[in-house]
Parts: sequence; structure tokens; C-alpha cells
Amino acid sequence: MTVRRPEFSGMRGIAPVPSYVVMQPTTLCNLDCGYCYLPARAVDRRMPVAVAEAVAAPVNGWARQGRFSVVWHGGEPLAAGRGHLGALLAPFDPTVEHHVQTNATLIDDAWCEFFTEHRIRVSVSVDGPRERNLERVSRGGRPAYDRIMAGIAALRRHGIPFSALCVVSRPEPGLAAELYDFFLELGCDVLGINIEETEGVNTRSNAHRPEQVSGFWAELVAAWRRAPRIHLREVEWSLRYAAAVLDGVEDDVLPRQLDPIPTIAYDGSVVLFSPELAGFSDPDYGDFTSGNVMETPLPDLLAAADRTRWVAEFLAGVESCRAQCPYFGFCGGGHAANRYFEHGRFDGTETDHCRNSKIRLLEGVLDHARHHGPTPA
Ligand code: SF4
Repeated sequence: MTVRRPEFSGMRGIAPVPSYVVMQPTTLCNLDCGYCYLPARAVDRRMPVAVAEAVAAPVNGWARQGRFSVVWHGGEPLAAGRGHLGALLAPFDPTVEHHVQTNATLIDDAWCEFFTEHRIRVSVSVDGPRERNLERVSRGGRPAYDRIMAGIAALRRHGIPFSALCVVSRPEPGLAAELYDFFLELGCDVLGINIEETEGVNTRSNAHRPEQVSGFWAELVAAWRRAPRIHLREVEWSLRYAAAVLDGVEDDVLPRQLDPIPTIAYDGSVVLFSPELAGFSDPDYGDFTSGNVMETPLPDLLAAADRTRWVAEFLAGVESCRAQCPYFGFCGGGHAANRYFEHGRFDGTETDHCRNSKIRLLEGVLDHARHHGPTPA
């Protein structure tokens, strides 16, 4: 199978309705991880309930038309406290799906009961076995691993299914198999792997040798094939794309329009496409927001999305990707924040992030398939 230029991909413009929204109940995080991108994670700025009410009005309507999710993402969303998070959830109809991305350190029996009562889907951030979590520390520099595992133990005690998100700072031989075995044992249903990104206040380089990264992904597929009991997010994306190419329907893989993925910051301001841009500003681009839900309804902000200067530049960058990159049909043009934090602008194309997490991913999965035959259904 060869990856080809995606001249025929029909994805154009911005969808008027997103598939989910990201909400920031507080800027605060109780951890201080070495690779974190968040600028204000030491400060507890909480989202007023009025912001949640303003977002819930259109979201409840969208959820009546089809599946719709709200992802509560911080800071550390549980640092907002159960009372406040419950008040923020209240304006949403029961048909809305809620997800929380948490470092798990605050999860206890009471939080588990809260998750069950509100039917919240939980995703925990953990980077593998103890010695792989050295970057995950408290503000005082103390390792958070035992607290993370105590939180996950509480989820398991309560029979709450969970996903896991793992950051890999240095892909190296043997790591993918080690991680996969760890997450199998942990009991998560879904695993997402993020190669560390240079973004926000994290300025560490994420450039790696190509064979190192594609080898990591190939090793991960091999580990998964031995025991395919976890949904492996990146591998499933790749296999879905490969199957579509083989069936001649690769133009159907990407959505018809870009998903605007609005992030609603604690104060109601809206940043499109990349939650990682929230809280930053630039002399040329301003604060990256496209307005505030306390002043303008979210659907109106989305309808005018391309009037935000950086968004228009990002759309031009996506078109450059479409014209130049053989991986566009798989990737769809990458993330705005990676372009900005790596290039200082939005209309470039390749970033170290897209090399690590799109190009080498697909190459690694295809390398594995070439050498080992078809993957299990
Ligand atoms: S972001 Fe990178 S991988 Fe994605 S289409 Fe653009 S250049 Fe290609």
C-alpha cells in the first residue's frame, strides 16, 4: 500500500456544529508535570455557572440531534471540587455525554459515586510504570505515581470503565511493549499515546530520529497483536485509514469539514481547534479567542470563525498541507497549536508533532503490516 497525495479529499471549511466542546472548569492543577503546556496551572480561576448555562443552551439542542460530548479538561478538572463541577453540569440535558480528563490523583470513593451519578466517562493521564512517571510530580516535586494508582484503584473498585492517556517523551526500543503490557494489566478500555509536544510553556524539543519513532509505533502494533484487548487509539486510526485506502474509499475517512472543537475557557472565552492556545497571547494574533459565550451565542461565534485572523491563516495552512503532503488524507492538516508553537505562525505545514504522531505513526503501522502480514480484525 502506498500513501498518496489527497487531491480528492473533500474536506473544506469549518463545520457549523462541532462534534464536542472542551470546558475548563478551573485553570488550577494540583500537579506540576515536567512537560505540561498550561500557563496558569498554579492559579484557581473557576468557571462561573453562567458560562456553563450559556454553553448548555446550544449543546442541549445539538445533543437532541445526535451524539454530543462535553469534555471537562483543566487544569485538573477535579480540582474544581464536586460541588462546583456538579453546578456546572446541571444546565446540561441528560442526553449530553460528559467526559473528564483527569490526573486521577484526587479520585476517591466520593468522586467515583459522582462519576456514576452523572454518567461521566473517565480518562486518566498516566505514563506507564512508576519509573516512566518521573515527570508527573506535585508542585513540591514529589512523585504523583502512588496517588495516580490509588485513584485508578478506586475506579476499579467501583467498576467504572476508564480510558488512559500516556505521554511518551523519548520513544526508544522496548518502550512500546513495556507500556502496552502495563496498560493491559491496568485494565483500561482505550489507550491513547501522545508523543510529547513542544507547545505552550513546554519548550523542550520533540524532534526524534524518524526510525526511532516509526519503530516505536511498529512495536506498539506488534504488542497489541499479541493481546488485542485494548482499543489503541492511534493504531485504530491508522488501520481504519489503511483499510479505506485498500477499499478505494480513503476520501471518506476525514469528515467533510474541519471540526472547530471549541474550547470554553474558565471565563467563557472561546478558542477554536486547539485547547492548548487558551490562555496565551501574541503581539500579532492577540489572545487567540474568537469571542466569549457571555456576549455572543456559541453558534454565532462558530458561524464567524474564519474572521478570527489566526483561524484564517490556519485554514490556509490546511490547504498547503492538502496540496503538498501525501499524508493529508490520514491527518487532515494537523493541529493549530503545534504549528504556532513550532513555527510561530499557522500557515506552515510539517511540524515535529505531525512527523511523530501522524507520519511516523502511519509508517510504523504499515512497516509492521509489511513484515508481519494482516492485523487481526
Ligand atoms: S500536518 Fe503534517 S502530516 Fe498532517 S497534512 Fe500537514 S504536513 Fe502532512
